[in-house]
Amino acid sequence: MSVVADVIESTVAILKGMKRTLSEIPRHNWTVQYPDEPVTVQPRYRGQHLLHVDEAGKEKCVACYLCAAACPSDCIYIEAEDDARPYAERIGRDERYAKVYNIDYGRCIFCGFCVEACPKDAITHGYNFELSVYNRADLLKTKDDLLITKQVQSKNYRVALSSEDVDSEFKKIRTKGGEKGDR
Ligand code: SF4
Ligand code: SF4
Repeated sequence: MSVVADVIESTVAILKGMKRTLSEIPRHNWTVQYPDEPVTVQPRYRGQHLLHVDEAGKEKCVACYLCAAACPSDCIYIEAEDDARPYAERIGRDERYAKVYNIDYGRCIFCGFCVEACPKDAITHGYNFELSVYNRADLLKTKDDLLITKQVQSKNYRVALSSEDVDSEFKKIRTKGGEKGDR
């Protein structure tokens, strides 16, 4: 009798599983033919960081180290420098700026603590997710890789709820034929 009960129980379980499987077949196919088609990322997606500049193009970072202190992965390296020149001539918005600003993406966990810690809105997460490299050392990104005026963005994504293919903040976009200039 218990064998019959086992057979019935197993058959019911299989039928339940098959019902679930079959119910999924007519549904919309979510596979994205990346990189031939752009991926949709959500507005709060945390991609590669962006170091921001003010309206005159001066770097906002004042090398206060708060982001590095907040980072649980210890992957931010900063070297501060004082630049006493007048505003029009100097690199940063303030006299103190980050001469070196590196993030090691081999360690970063994209937690966003650095962004939260910054008192100057100098660093945010961008949407760029194409960080794959062949050499681990290439995961170390320098200020030139992170600055919003220099970071080359992929065109292989769009931001959900946005009418644009790429966030309009970004200065350059990469196309299949090569790099496009400032927009
Ligand atoms: S996102 Fe998190 S792990 Fe990555 S650099 Fe910022 S604080 Fe560090
Ligand atoms: S990015 Fe922000 S928190 Fe980090 S050193 Fe620069 S100003 Fe300070």
